[in-house]
Amino acid sequence: SLDFSESRPTELSDIFISVKTTKRYHKLRVELLLSTWARLAKDETYFFTDTDDKELENKTRGHVINTNCSAVHSRMALCCKMSVEYDYFIASRKRWFCHVDDDTYINIPELSRLLKKFNHTEDWYLGKPSLTHPLEISDPEHKGQKVAFWFATGGAGMCISRSLALKMMPYTAGGRLQSVCATVRLPDDCSIGFIIYNYLKKELTVISQFHSHLEGLWLLKPENMDQQITLSYSVKQTPILGRSNVIHLSTGFEVEKDPTSTYLNFQGSMQRMLPLAIASCQITLSYNRPDSGKLKNIVHVSGGFSEQDDPTRFRSIHCQLFPYLEGCPRAAHT
Ligand code: UDP
Ligand code: MN
Repeated sequence: SLDFSESRPTELSDIFISVKTTKRYHKLRVELLLSTWARLAKDETYFFTDTDDKELENKTRGHVINTNCSAVHSRMALCCKMSVEYDYFIASRKRWFCHVDDDTYINIPELSRLLKKFNHTEDWYLGKPSLTHPLEISDPEHKGQKVAFWFATGGAGMCISRSLALKMMPYTAGGRLQSVCATVRLPDDCSIGFIIYNYLKKELTVISQFHSHLEGLWLLKPENMDQQITLSYSVKQTPILGRSNVIHLSTGFEVEKDPTSTYLNFQGSMQRMLPLAIASCQITLSYNRPDSGKLKNIVHVSGGFSEQDDPTRFRSIHCQLFPYLEGCPRAAHT
């Protein structure tokens, strides 16, 4: 018999939006989300952090979860957080688990529209890889063999249907994700991809409208902004390392990552981790300002706030999508 409640179209309220953050980013990053997209999904959005913060709790009406995971950018600390995010989703009974980092902009209406197209009672793993090839690792169960799989980069956002999430329980629930992370020695997003591919034999469905700062965000056309689902930024102010090698220049902002962190050390090879868009180094260069000695990867918005007032571009993006919101520049209305 057909369960009507299961067959009605998916709505925003069916989505569990989980944002990974850490105490030092509550002011720097989370506030920006609260003043932009998260306003449009107040009931659906939860912040997973590593400390108590009464002020943030009040602002989000209690949607802050202290995971008690350690506040470092290490593989195990991040896996710990993801495992708590997952457990909360399971407890929420929602149809979709969507995870983002705290430097992600979510186009809320487009996310709802996307998830209407997929049946949450089927197995779906939606996201965007940042590698140009499947990730290959030693198979932890079969010595001497390799296993290669695509994974959704956490920073671009990823959505998992309830059906698939329930099947992941034996490998993910109650902290078991951390054992997988430790065994395969991969960051949380890769480990999720590994569980889905290796244990459940499901594939990633690529959503091209998801975007992390591992791709060239300046390549997105401002007139297509309303079709994008996630956006990000990287405004790390890193010195230019040299002048002769264009590739090194254009990847400067990723090279500076914490060496104990996610992407750089498990492969050992930086070159293999380069995002596709970085190949277009001439375009990158045209946006560098060598005189300032800084590099950043941000979305180009037509109009909006100045880069000084809105360095991440999120406020400008938000006003471009919703021009009539209070506080948007008048020019955005025309
Ligand atoms: N993060 C964290 N603990 C830390 C550092 C970062 O939970 O000690 C979170 C951060 O809030 C973000 C994600 O991990 O949601 C990725 O961090 P970031 O954007 O700084 O680094 P990336 O890996 O994107 O270069
Ligand atoms: Mn990031």
